[in-house]
Amino acid sequence: MNTTPRPYREDFPHRVQIVEVGTRDGFQAVEGWIPTDTKAQILKALIAAGLRHFEATSFVSPRAVPQLRDGAGLLAELGVPEGVTLSALVPNLRGAEAAIAAGAGGLVVFVSASESHNLKNLNRSRGESLAALQAISDRAAEARMPVQGAIATAFGCPFEGDVPVAAVLKIAQAYHAIGIRRVTLGDTTGMATPSLVRQRVQALNAELPDMEVALHFHNTRGLGLANVMAGLDAGVWIYESSVGGLGGCPFAPGATGNICTEDLVYLLHECGIETGVDLDALCAVARQVEQVIGRPLPGQVMKAGQRLQTAPMESVRTACG
Ligand code: MG
Repeated sequence: MNTTPRPYREDFPHRVQIVEVGTRDGFQAVEGWIPTDTKAQILKALIAAGLRHFEATSFVSPRAVPQLRDGAGLLAELGVPEGVTLSALVPNLRGAEAAIAAGAGGLVVFVSASESHNLKNLNRSRGESLAALQAISDRAAEARMPVQGAIATAFGCPFEGDVPVAAVLKIAQAYHAIGIRRVTLGDTTGMATPSLVRQRVQALNAELPDMEVALHFHNTRGLGLANVMAGLDAGVWIYESSVGGLGGCPFAPGATGNICTEDLVYLLHECGIETGVDLDALCAVARQVEQVIGRPLPGQVMKAGQRLQTAPMESVRTACG
């Protein structure tokens, strides 16, 4: 049934690393409690489908994000699967200590490029957030744990509008100064466009050539995968996405959240780029996640199947328009 797709462009990365964020960025917005063993079972199914890198949970205040209050229990249930990295998002030193104690495989810290968003999200200024990072970085180094820095609202802010590229660079430089060598540009409310992606990645590469860049897009305005193409064009080989497209946007009720992992894998495979993921197995997990959260997810390949997946003629009554 499948043929090997020809590379879309020889100069694109030949292999892409996908970081699955569904159980953190997706589940945090789900209101009804998802039991820890259900979360663990979903993560195990995602690992079985070939995913190897996860932002699995966060260690934030359980009052702020009650759904993720079981981070330690979840990591304990999973252990450290061979060749798999289970990272945790941490807002402060306390969270970092908890994540290290729970056996996380890496820490993700975050600061917004926009001052208003940082104040709203973290209740402190960007400067205060950055000042607190040194202690986290030192503690992580002691525990030999990798730290990556996310920059929220890297492509625009729901309160301020445009975010200057200089504001993004300033956060990335501050990360670099404390030893962080991997930065994720987060399109928190889906304001990225291919032009902005190219501009920001090029600026980062020019300013900090030894900083690895990852991209975290939302499909809020339908440009999620177009932005991935712009990222590939700029040489970026690490993308964050969530199974089924789980996740919402608190500033735009009803809007879709993160780009969908199956749709991303489908795009990459069709461009001749390896991901190590079994797409059919991944779609099965996405359908299972739909059952767990009790509502349809925005993922498209999980519904339509892959392009060469044929149907018997008699099973279709009317032609599509
Ligand atoms: Mg997100």
